[in-house]
Amino acid sequence: MKNIRSGEILCVGTELLVGQIVNTNASWLARRLSLLGISSYYQTVVGDNPARMLEAMKVASSRSDLVVVTGGLGPTADDLTMSVAAKMAERKMQIHLPSREAISEIFRKMGRTEVTENNWKQAMMPEGAFVLPNNNGTAPGAVIEYSFEGREVTMILLPGPPSEMQPMFVDQAEPWIRQHVPTSFKHLFVRMIGIGESKAETMLLDLIDGQNNPTIAPYASEGEVIFRISQLFDKNDGDITKQPDLTAELLAEVRNRLGEFIYEVGDRKMPEVVKDMLHAQRKTISFAESCTAGLLSDAIAQYPGASEVFKGAIIAYDNDIKTNILNVSSDILTEYGAVSEQCAIAMATGCRDVMKTDLAISVTGIAGPDGGSEEKPLGTVWLAAASADGVVTRKLHLAGNRGRIRRVSALQALDLARRQLL
Ligand code: ATP
Repeated sequence: MKNIRSGEILCVGTELLVGQIVNTNASWLARRLSLLGISSYYQTVVGDNPARMLEAMKVASSRSDLVVVTGGLGPTADDLTMSVAAKMAERKMQIHLPSREAISEIFRKMGRTEVTENNWKQAMMPEGAFVLPNNNGTAPGAVIEYSFEGREVTMILLPGPPSEMQPMFVDQAEPWIRQHVPTSFKHLFVRMIGIGESKAETMLLDLIDGQNNPTIAPYASEGEVIFRISQLFDKNDGDITKQPDLTAELLAEVRNRLGEFIYEVGDRKMPEVVKDMLHAQRKTISFAESCTAGLLSDAIAQYPGASEVFKGAIIAYDNDIKTNILNVSSDILTEYGAVSEQCAIAMATGCRDVMKTDLAISVTGIAGPDGGSEEKPLGTVWLAAASADGVVTRKLHLAGNRGRIRRVSALQALDLARRQLL
């Protein structure tokens, strides 16, 4: 039985080397490998050059049990990854009939009778490879096992586009990898808002310092604080399913100290939590967005089922829109200004009237770089939430650049919505 303890990521593509695209595959895969309990020490990017690609594969194979490769599985002449991998494993390329069949089927579904000649190339696989079908594109992936310099190595080849690579990894590669990793991890992600990272860390310092297994560690996330509680299970200690789960006890202690700030223990981010709460309570929401100009709407619309709870938004960037559409009185704007508690209240109530939702959230603030004053410095943001119970407000003093101020305002506004739903 193979023991995969170390892994590394090799991303293929000249467009990565010249900075044309960002290597999101590497960061995504790195996180998945760490969640699987695999130590990864290296990441490499190499262009579409067969000699350099082979060299990179050899270096990776000389030091890691698992090499995960993405990109270069396409049909064009510069897509060479599969044939270079065959060379690495000293295998011949041969036709894989089920993949050939799958490619014909994709073309047939697209209404194309003739398969372009170079597409058949994607059905050529190294001898003995375990083929990973591509349910979201034409290029299949593969698992190849070989020995190099006396070491047993597994190479997993995945397509470059994240929309194809991610499901192939999660649905097909991960179950395979899990069988060969001697350890497994249980992770709990504890997401908090309304407390700074250093304050939260101070309140958990004795738990962090005294940690062994499970461990607890903070990691940075914009505008919120996330702690990861991780327990390592080792097959060498016996049947993993029979080993006690100690994460719940540690989580209970974290809840005991910081429970009021915790909005999720799991993978859901704030917009999804709010969407689910609205759904469970059969309530609707709308937004009146000034400085966030659509960020709140975009955040909630990312999630399937949003249409059942999110009715719409008014981007009231200009004061005329605030008065003409949201009915904010011009007296408020003259007397208190657009970035004021009074304006946020009027925007939220006006929005709720226009949209006829259970809850309406408004955001108005100074994202900068200009527009700050002594009375209202840059990063001053007012939020309001209007519901049948009345209106509540929250004032923020945010630091950072324009992008950060806008993003954290949106996050805080969703948190205000969440609190109204508690
Ligand atoms: P295709 O069949 O689409 O050609 P492929 O496996 O050959 O897939 P590439 O041609 O290397 O993959 O890349 C296709 C696209 O996938 C790139 O243009 C890019 O949008 C995306 N992509 C490739 N590699 C990465 C990466 N490391 N990170 C993020 N996106 C990537």
